[in-house]
Amino acid sequence: MILTRLNWGIAGLFLVLALSCQRETTPEVVYEIVKSTHEGRPALEVRMAFEAPEGEVSPVAYQNNAWGETDMFRHIRDVRLLEGNGEVVVLADSNRVEVKRTRPGEQVYLSYKVVQDSATASGDPDKSYRPHVTPDYFHVFSHNLFMMPAHLDAEPETPVHFRLRWRGWEHPEVVHNSFGSNQKEQNLGVLTVARFHSAIFTGGDFRIYTDTIEGNALHLATRGQWVPFTDQEVMNVLSQTVRAQRRFWDDHSQEYFTVTMRPYPQERGSSFQGTGLTNSFATSVSNNMETELDQLLYLFNHELMHNWIGHTIENESEEAQYWFSEGFTEYYTVKNIASNGIGGKDWGYFIEYLNETIRLLETSPVRGEPNSAITYETFWGSRDYEKLPYRRGMLFAFYLDQQIRAVSDIKKSLDNLMRDLLEEVRRSGARLNAGLFLEKARPYLVEDLAPFLEAHIEQGVPLPLEDLFTSLGLEYTIGAEVFDLGFEFDPDRARVQSVDTASVAYATGLREGDRVVSRSIYMGSTTKEVELVVLRDGKRVPIQYLPVRRAPIIQLSDTPDTHRWFSK
Ligand SMILES: [Zn+2]
Repeated sequence: MILTRLNWGIAGLFLVLALSCQRETTPEVVYEIVKSTHEGRPALEVRMAFEAPEGEVSPVAYQNNAWGETDMFRHIRDVRLLEGNGEVVVLADSNRVEVKRTRPGEQVYLSYKVVQDSATASGDPDKSYRPHVTPDYFHVFSHNLFMMPAHLDAEPETPVHFRLRWRGWEHPEVVHNSFGSNQKEQNLGVLTVARFHSAIFTGGDFRIYTDTIEGNALHLATRGQWVPFTDQEVMNVLSQTVRAQRRFWDDHSQEYFTVTMRPYPQERGSSFQGTGLTNSFATSVSNNMETELDQLLYLFNHELMHNWIGHTIENESEEAQYWFSEGFTEYYTVKNIASNGIGGKDWGYFIEYLNETIRLLETSPVRGEPNSAITYETFWGSRDYEKLPYRRGMLFAFYLDQQIRAVSDIKKSLDNLMRDLLEEVRRSGARLNAGLFLEKARPYLVEDLAPFLEAHIEQGVPLPLEDLFTSLGLEYTIGAEVFDLGFEFDPDRARVQSVDTASVAYATGLREGDRVVSRSIYMGSTTKEVELVVLRDGKRVPIQYLPVRRAPIIQLSDTPDTHRWFSK
């Protein structure tokens, strides 16, 4: 699952203006982070200074449950005052620490240590959102590292002047985060609490790679020994991706951007976790030979494209426009990769991805569901619903792009419409909905797009791809190999409940009632064999087959002609 948490606070700007009428100064919070230990284990000591609010108690917020993780106070040790004679009370269940007997306006100097939870094995990918503090490095998200005066935390759009000081990391060790690279004194200036708390902080044995794009810094911070690729290969893909995307949008407004990439050991399969943050993208990636550079290529292109599609051009109501924020992001992921030759790819990559998306949508059990069936519950509760807006939206974008190119004699494309949308939302602050999309699409098309959008996005009617390919004179075939496991497990996944007699599974000898004693299945893969050992009449029977079947699904042919059409 990819979590994206980007906060582009426009509202903060208005707050600055409103507050400046009442207050002389913006509140300031200073943190000093010291390389330390606690009971022999590595720790980050955080010393914070802030002005006490009204009243006799200064509450400081720290979320005990955040980003799907619980009991975060288990990472907090040795909470104390550095000065003054107040009293400190830790109230984990209330998500706060209280400093008692403070006087309004006085400086409060609070100190605490952040340690790695004993359960947080560095290798566990599920623990990516907990602090990692080891003898070699630290990797901690802002909200887990920095407590916040509660009166500021309560209003995430409050502008605050933040300063950071790092003590104890000496060359070749680094300090690298969402706000700067190897800066021991970080004056972050005024930013909202939300933007400050949506950040990644790393240090220790990370390796930093740097590129400059139109005068703006781009970094990659990574560590460990990567098995599937070299640092330089990753940096090349990242640089090419960011360059291509910024050129596409003609947007070089981001002065600093970093990607952090943490490896974790995993025996089989590959997995990625990524989080979009202020000026940064933090990712954790499985480190084995089953992890491929192509997967990173996709991850970077998809996730970083969200800077514009999804975050600058924001959905009016999340799930209702996922067809746009996820589907169009998918489309521009593969289109940008192909048209810019990122990672050495060409239009063959694009055609392959297009065909795969057609196959996956066609064989999805929810392919005919209307857009309104994609809700918070179904999206997060079902893999089929989760993928529906990606695939449907991607194919819709593809279709529309070809239409615009065709009617304009290749003078215009969906690219122009996308840039128009960006300009519009920046100018007016509008959010993306079907109405805005249709309005911006109108100049590019001869016919009214509204009924088409209604049918193929809102109602979920399959796109007339055969008509499109025919009208463009592009070669295609009908018929594709799709994933077909061929049997169903019982609810305990211990026995074969039923076998499709037309399947390869049946032809290979799998039968209803077989007890499954071992299995290796790559769900959805048409290239990896299913390996089973079943128990039948007391005997162990090995079963091995490629889980595919032929289906009458349209596929665009990868020919010099199709390449020529796309690269026109
Ligand atoms: Zn996405």
